Amino acid sequence: MNIFEEAIQTRRKFHSRPEEGWTEFETSYLVADRLKTLGWKVAVGLDVIDAEAVLGRDPELVQKAMKRAASQGVPAEFLERTNGYTGVIGTFDTGRKGPKTAFRFDMDCVQVQESNDENHLPVKEGFVSQIPGLMHACGHDGHTALGLSLARWIGENKDELCGSFVLIFQPAEEGTRGAAPIAAKGWVDDVDYFFAGHCGMYCQKGEIGICSGGFFATSKLDIRFTGVPSHAGAFPERGRSALSAACSAVMMMQGISRTSQGDSRISIGKLTAGEGRNVTPVHALIQLETRGETEEVNEFLVNNVRNIVKGAAEAYETKYEIKIVGHATSLMTTPKGVELLKKTASLVEGYGKVRTFDRVGGSEDATVLFKRAVEHGADGAFFMWGVNNQGHHKPDFDLQDVETMPPAILFCQNLVKQTNGINKN
Ligand SMILES: [Zn+2]
Repeated sequence: MNIFEEAIQTRRKFHSRPEEGWTEFETSYLVADRLKTLGWKVAVGLDVIDAEAVLGRDPELVQKAMKRAASQGVPAEFLERTNGYTGVIGTFDTGRKGPKTAFRFDMDCVQVQESNDENHLPVKEGFVSQIPGLMHACGHDGHTALGLSLARWIGENKDELCGSFVLIFQPAEEGTRGAAPIAAKGWVDDVDYFFAGHCGMYCQKGEIGICSGGFFATSKLDIRFTGVPSHAGAFPERGRSALSAACSAVMMMQGISRTSQGDSRISIGKLTAGEGRNVTPVHALIQLETRGETEEVNEFLVNNVRNIVKGAAEAYETKYEIKIVGHATSLMTTPKGVELLKKTASLVEGYGKVRTFDRVGGSEDATVLFKRAVEHGADGAFFMWGVNNQGHHKPDFDLQDVETMPPAILFCQNLVKQTNGINKN
C-alpha cells in the first residue's frame, strides 16, 4: 500500500480506539508491533518512562485499560513488558556517521463524546470512536500515524540517509503529563535535532506554521480539603466545612494579581464537594490549572494558589493537600531549528502558506522535551500542520486526513532529508 494510504488507514484505526492519557495500551502495542516489523529497535514501559517523574496517572484506570487491551487481543507478553506504563520509542541507525534526530508524536485522546452526526467524516466512513466518552478530538491519532509513516519512510530510504533516529510516541499529552518522565529518562539528552508538531491549532488546510516560541508554561493542580463531619442541624459548630474552605479559596484565586512580568491565566475548571444536604461537608476537590507566558509567571500563580489554599484551610480549620498532576514549560527553540523548518516548508507543494509564530497560546508538553534537548545543545523548533477545524476538543473535530496528511508526511520526510540526507537538496 502506498505510504499516504497506509497512514490514513492507520490514523482511522487509531481513531476508532481512542485511549486517554496513561491508558494507551492498544495504541502502544500497534505502534511497537509496527516499528518492529519495520526493522526499528523498540523500547517500551520503564525503558521509556521514568516512573518517579510520572504525573497524573490513575492506577485504577490503568488496570481497567490493560484488561480492555487484553480483550482486544493485545498479547499478555506485551502488556507485561509495559509494566503498566504506556509509551513507545523507536530507534534506527543508518550505520553511517551523522546527526541523531528525534521527533515527538503524542498518542492520547480526549474525554469527549464523539458526534454521531451523519455528516461527521468518521461516522460517514465508519471509523467513529468505539469507546463511549472518549474521542481523538485533538488529532493525536493523526500524529501517531504520521510518526509510523515516517518510520517506514526512513527505513525504505536508509541508503540516502546518515546518522540515527529516535521516534518518541508519547503518552498522556493531554493534561501535560507524559513528556516529563521521558525527558527525565534522558531520551533527548544526546540528540542533535529535536522536532515536534501538532495538527490544526492556528493553521488551516494548506497552511503550515513554524513556531519559534510561545506556549504557556502551565501547572495542573488537584487540591483537596478535608473537614470534620457533624449533624448540620443539631451540632453545626462541631463540623468543619471542606466545601466552605474550597469555595472561599476559589473566590480568592480569581483575585490573584496580574503580573507585569507577562501574560497569565488561571482556570478553576472543577469543584466537587459535600456529602449530603444535612451533613457538614467533609470532602472538597478543586481541579485547576495555571498558565504563564514564562516559567516564572506560572510559578507566581502557583505560589499564590498555595498561599490561598493554606489560608482558607486555616480559616475554616480543615486539612488540605496540593498535588501537581501536570506540568509544561514555555517553548524553547533555536534559530537553526526554525530555519530548517522554514526551508522544509518551502519545499512542500501542499503548503502554499507558511506562517510563523513567536507567541502561541495554549500549552504543549513537548516544551518539556524541547527544554531538555535544547539545553543539552540540540537544535529544533515546533510546527503546526494545517487542518480545517472548528476547534479542538469538540465532538465534531476532524482533520480531513485524505487532504491534510499527505503534505504533513512529505514535510517530515523533507525535514529528515535536510537533517540527515546524504544529498541535502
Ligand atoms: Zn493536542
